[in-house]
Amino acid sequence: MLALRNFSDDDMESIMNSTVAVVGAGGLGSPALRLLTAIGFGKIRIIDRDIVELSNIQRQTVYNTQDIGEPKVEAAAANLQMLNPNVEFDPLCISIQEDNAIDLLKGTDIILDGLDSFKARRVVNWASIDLDIPYIFAGAVEYYANLSTFIPGKTGCFACVMGEAKDNPDNTCAQVGVTPTLLSLAAAVEVNEAILLATGHKPTLENRLMTIDSGTLTFDFFDIGKSDECPVCSKSVRTDVTKTNDITATQLCSQSFNVSPPKIGKIDLNEIAQILDQSYSIKSTERSVLVNLASGEKITLMSSGSAIIKGVDTAEDAIRLYKLILSKNS
Ligand SMILES: [Zn+2]
Repeated sequence: MLALRNFSDDDMESIMNSTVAVVGAGGLGSPALRLLTAIGFGKIRIIDRDIVELSNIQRQTVYNTQDIGEPKVEAAAANLQMLNPNVEFDPLCISIQEDNAIDLLKGTDIILDGLDSFKARRVVNWASIDLDIPYIFAGAVEYYANLSTFIPGKTGCFACVMGEAKDNPDNTCAQVGVTPTLLSLAAAVEVNEAILLATGHKPTLENRLMTIDSGTLTFDFFDIGKSDECPVCSKSVRTDVTKTNDITATQLCSQSFNVSPPKIGKIDLNEIAQILDQSYSIKSTERSVLVNLASGEKITLMSSGSAIIKGVDTAEDAIRLYKLILSKNS
């Protein structure tokens, strides 16, 4: 990049000093993560609650077939570390929600959208305004993508543009699919915006909505602004979010759950592995400990304190096993 016109050593330095949060490590997040890593953003926080499945691989290009069954964030961090050892990764296997969004995004410079639901984007939008962090929005389904860059205090926000729009259960990626090439196009635009933000330049999608139709290869741009009636960015931001002090379990695909403690921290996996090894069949890696229970359930415990639990039917069962495993540590 240093040979590029209008790109200086100082710009590269700024990129190396930037922390980007990629929320969602799926179809959009994967190509974005590869680009951010190759370019050399200093620190990348990867937030995703899910595990890698075979059906992901054709578009979620940060994963290999060996990663199937692994937590996405851990697999992504391991693969990306090989691509660029200088980047620091912070993988957080958790479902982003109102009560944890501030903690998850705090300390980052740029939020990059890799999500697949309006519901999660609303949470990210609100947190970006509360934390005063720019939010690069992208959404893609079938052959169509929408993108914009929202800068708190300067532009409108996701809620200004989308109003009350909700997720349409008949129009999800799972229902109508999404073309992998569209995801790469949209992710490249997102990372282009991240470069402009990190280097102090005006993002090209500031106050603009970009639409992509990859079926006809049509790119359109619409001027957008701030809505005075926006319930999110035109009122003082609400600070009344109730924090749960409970362990939460979110259902993933069939028979697996993400279980997360109320506060994400760092746990000593080596120490836990040594203790669990006395009672269970375990497989330990640098970033996770897999516990195979005799009754068939599998628990992947990560250094953030979160776990993916497979082979249980209910959230209660998932939390019970999580507590059982961690009780050995105390
Ligand atoms: Zn707004």
